[in-house]
Amino acid sequence: MFDKILIANRGEIALRVHRACQEMGIKTVAVHSTADADAMHVRLADESVCIGPPSATQSYLNVPALITACELTGAEAIHPGYGFLSENANFAQIVAEHGLTFIGPTADHIRLMGDKVTAKVTMKRLGVPCVPGSEGAVEDVAEAEAVANEIGYPVLIKAASGGGGRGMRVVAKREELADAFNSARAEAKASFGDDSVYVEKYLSLPRHIEIQVVADSHGGVVHLGERDCSLQRRHQKILEEAPSPALNADDRVKIGNQVITAIQELGYLGVGTIEFLYENGRFYFIEMNTRLQVEHPVTEAIYGVDLVREQIRIASGQKLSFAQDELTANGHAIECRINAENPKTFAPSPGLVKHYHAPGGLGVRIDSALYSGYKIPPHYDSLIGKLIVHGRNRNECLMRLRRAMSELVVDGVETTGPLFQRLFSDADFVNGDYHIHWLERWLAANGK
Ligand code: ADP
Repeated sequence: MFDKILIANRGEIALRVHRACQEMGIKTVAVHSTADADAMHVRLADESVCIGPPSATQSYLNVPALITACELTGAEAIHPGYGFLSENANFAQIVAEHGLTFIGPTADHIRLMGDKVTAKVTMKRLGVPCVPGSEGAVEDVAEAEAVANEIGYPVLIKAASGGGGRGMRVVAKREELADAFNSARAEAKASFGDDSVYVEKYLSLPRHIEIQVVADSHGGVVHLGERDCSLQRRHQKILEEAPSPALNADDRVKIGNQVITAIQELGYLGVGTIEFLYENGRFYFIEMNTRLQVEHPVTEAIYGVDLVREQIRIASGQKLSFAQDELTANGHAIECRINAENPKTFAPSPGLVKHYHAPGGLGVRIDSALYSGYKIPPHYDSLIGKLIVHGRNRNECLMRLRRAMSELVVDGVETTGPLFQRLFSDADFVNGDYHIHWLERWLAANGK
């Protein structure tokens, strides 16, 4: 087992990793930009190293600075968290070339799944159901049109290197195809430096359901059920829950087994999430995330496991600490992402947090790096905390969520907290009756 781990991230996820390390008796090294000198992850870690100025490209994405920080402190492994360098295959490779351990999958697996075209072709070959569409990247409008004619409109043009919903265009009819194709390609080139795009059927009212997997280097592969992440704004998840209100036990077992077979065939290592769209009782693979997800705590809540601890064990060559038949889901969990944003316009609201009070009590978990007197810097993602609530069933979970959210106090900046309070009283939400477009429609109908 490692003695010291460097956490190449900031905010709540850096704290999350630090906590797992501490419970395992592993020392931690925090890294930070000059804007984050007073951040909680720096205060809690055993050691810290300043790796650059505020801009993420010069600090949290600064590979030479991170490797140097490992050398200076004697850290043996790097945990990338999510975002930043967590799905950067070159980084994983460089870390390994320096004799350090990247806590995550191999660079080859990150690369394979990071390109959505090769990911989809691979998953299809491994028997995972995919959204109907082109067999790979499409080269020009004529080829896109041929695919669209075959699968029928509406179709979606997607960037092979896409992420965060960029490089994606919905095409309702043939006349719109050429413009959409060209603009998706230009956006993909500008955002990801790669203009390959592919075409798939645009599903009208699906849910977003993802399966959590964990695999060790001894052939152990388990799945930890699903998370329903259908509540999205601009393709960004806002609230996640497990289990999905829409899935029955048979479908859960069936998709879980299909995913396990594929992951075993791949020889994948570490935690991973296979994302699907789910419509009319059928699953359609869209992408695989080769890292810890923001929403991993809902899975931890219902299965009673520590996914970061498993990541670290696996990276150090140990076996998974549980087998599939030792895993039982208990009750229901919901996570709300709290952003420092105006709850109506979603404009970022960085600044001084004059007073912070975190909810507590039975079944309530807060993952946040906030404290009273903390100044939220304007340079990074606006996520300031996650409220995760667990109950014996969905109803109890919802009651607890309303109660816990009402206790949250963040004075000095605006947060998306009030938005959730309104959402919790909506009948469709309470009934679990929603799909990927539901939230945007609800926001439009409820004065944003
Ligand atoms: P990104 O990596 O940019 O987030 P994804 O492939 O994960 O892209 O898709 C993000 C979201 O876009 C999905 O959660 C879903 O809401 C929507 N989406 C993606 N593919 C389709 C599709 N074929 N039909 C309908 N919606 C889709």
